[in-house]
Amino acid sequence: MSKKQKRWLVRILVALALFACVLAVTALVSLEQLTGSRTAAVWLEFALFLVPYLIAGYDVLLKAARNIGHGQVFDENFLMSLATVGAFAMVLFPETDPHMAEGAAVMLFYQVGELFQSYAVGRSRKSIADMMDIAPEYATIECDGHLEEVGPDEVPVGSVIVVKPGERVPLDGVVVDGASQLDTAALTGESVPRSVEPGSEVVSGCVNLTGALRVRTSKPYGDSTVARILELVENAAEKKARTESFITRFARVYTPIVTGTAVLLAVVPPLLGAGAWSDWILRGLTFLVVSCPCALVISVPLSFFGGIGGASRLGILVKGSNYLELLSKVDTVVFDKTGTLTDGTFDVVAIHAEEGVDPAAVLSHAAHAEAFSDHPIAVSLRRAYAGPIDQKRVRQAEEASGHGVRAVVDEREVLVGNDKLMARHGAAWHDCELAGTVLHVCVDGRYVGHIVIADVVKADAAQTIADLHAAGVKRCVMLTGDRADVAQAVGGQLGIDEVRAQLLPEDKVNEVERLLGSQADGAKLAFVGDGINDAPVLTRADVGIAMGAMGSDAAIEAADVVLMDDKPSNIARAIRLARGTMRIVWQNIVFALGVKIAILILAALGIANMWLAVFGDVGVAVLAILNAMRAMNVRKYRP
Ligand code: ADP
Ligand code: MG
Repeated sequence: MSKKQKRWLVRILVALALFACVLAVTALVSLEQLTGSRTAAVWLEFALFLVPYLIAGYDVLLKAARNIGHGQVFDENFLMSLATVGAFAMVLFPETDPHMAEGAAVMLFYQVGELFQSYAVGRSRKSIADMMDIAPEYATIECDGHLEEVGPDEVPVGSVIVVKPGERVPLDGVVVDGASQLDTAALTGESVPRSVEPGSEVVSGCVNLTGALRVRTSKPYGDSTVARILELVENAAEKKARTESFITRFARVYTPIVTGTAVLLAVVPPLLGAGAWSDWILRGLTFLVVSCPCALVISVPLSFFGGIGGASRLGILVKGSNYLELLSKVDTVVFDKTGTLTDGTFDVVAIHAEEGVDPAAVLSHAAHAEAFSDHPIAVSLRRAYAGPIDQKRVRQAEEASGHGVRAVVDEREVLVGNDKLMARHGAAWHDCELAGTVLHVCVDGRYVGHIVIADVVKADAAQTIADLHAAGVKRCVMLTGDRADVAQAVGGQLGIDEVRAQLLPEDKVNEVERLLGSQADGAKLAFVGDGINDAPVLTRADVGIAMGAMGSDAAIEAADVVLMDDKPSNIARAIRLARGTMRIVWQNIVFALGVKIAILILAALGIANMWLAVFGDVGVAVLAILNAMRAMNVRKYRP
């Protein structure tokens, strides 16, 4: 409990104690005998109850007044103020039963409910913060032989930092010395530690477990994984879901209607001579108190908040509650192949050099031409080449997405890519009998041969497709720029419903547009990719899901949901969790509105009094909040 909440609690307890005293006094002592007149007795009671009322509710009254000044009249502060002030105003009808006690009680219980809500919201926010407690406080750099701790944002790129066992890696980089195990759980939810050795990449936010490491930083703090994740999480809480704004929109219409009805209820029947003014005014006021939609307004965002928090526990970052809502309606999932369903680490299956060409030279040319590319194919070719790549030998490197690369290596023009690339440059090429991704290599206009590479599907890819179908997803589609035979093989192996091959990045967008066009009403389409050549598609889909905090920045930027550990199986989990959250949201909406309407009808009929109204509202709010907290619980989604 925060300091502010503690002070709040003390205030409520003091008000409650005073209220109990006043209640006891008015019950035991006859104020009328004491003061000698009925009017004086009512005014004395008024004054006595006013003290606990003001202690409990002065801030609500102030807020209501301030909001009226700002032109935002219809909120719950306004409702509570109007209703309770009205209850006290009954003092002007001394001949009726006094209602000061109810007025004070309404305020008290309202405050108890508010305190509870504030506590619950604070707690779920804190547990998200705890979970995301990955922000490093310092980085240790070596300075003239001794270690110095500096702020992570003060470390220039390329400096060597020391990470001791038990410390959090503050910046992204490459290990230059030492071997250790890293706990990546905070980033990926993966509990198995990852071994690192010189040459391994490490990402910030992981905890170094066993050995001291020297790491050469590769990114400034602001671009490091940890800073990007924190930014995502902070922004996520701000984006509003459509269901949520439904509540806000609803409240904007609802409050004036309720206020208007209350006024009519208080004014019309007595004007028609259907009873005493005080009676109907009280009924109107009761109606107002009951109508306050605070349970609804608070529990809906809280449910989303819990859902987002729960998702991040699974290693799924959802950038806003609206995406959780969209995700729950997904019935088509479109996958990119390379890096999404497959590992993206290609092995060289064969190098077919033309007559009189050295296969090693083919690989060397290809690896150099790919020197500046981030494409998984490029990374794999460089790895297969194994030798040092002198980037100074490479000039004018340009990448044509979905085609390949062209570069000048040692003053010779090298093309590496698929048949489309060859056709574009008018180069001759011939096909290969091997199944796999074929990279043609052309040097100075002469075809020197091709490299056949193959990728393996991710371990959980087939299970993912099965899980998605089981979760009611109707279509799983795979789009790829790769050759049709490779695509068919992967698609068949995984049980994909539809496979589209040989697509350029813009074809992928068109394909997604076509699929979007054939969607059933209200159903949503998710696209999952690694952001290499497919960032535009990520933005175009209803929900863009990116592989990997470790993957491309463009993907993380463009995506609505980020899977931190690149595991496709988290997509099915994310969808189930989103549906679970939406179920809770709707339960709360239906429950809160149902009870509200029932009590409103009773109040209008004069059956419900203010006491029932108070308990109804606080009770619904408490139950709705407890229900909302369930969205945080993700144990059932864990593998
Ligand atoms: P996917 O849709 O499977 O993710 P891409 O759209 O990234 O594939 O690439 C499609 C095809 O374009 C690859 O199969 C390859 O033939 C060619 N290609 C793309 N980038 C490169 C590159 N850097 N080097 C060689 N070939 C490439
Ligand atoms: Mg790709």
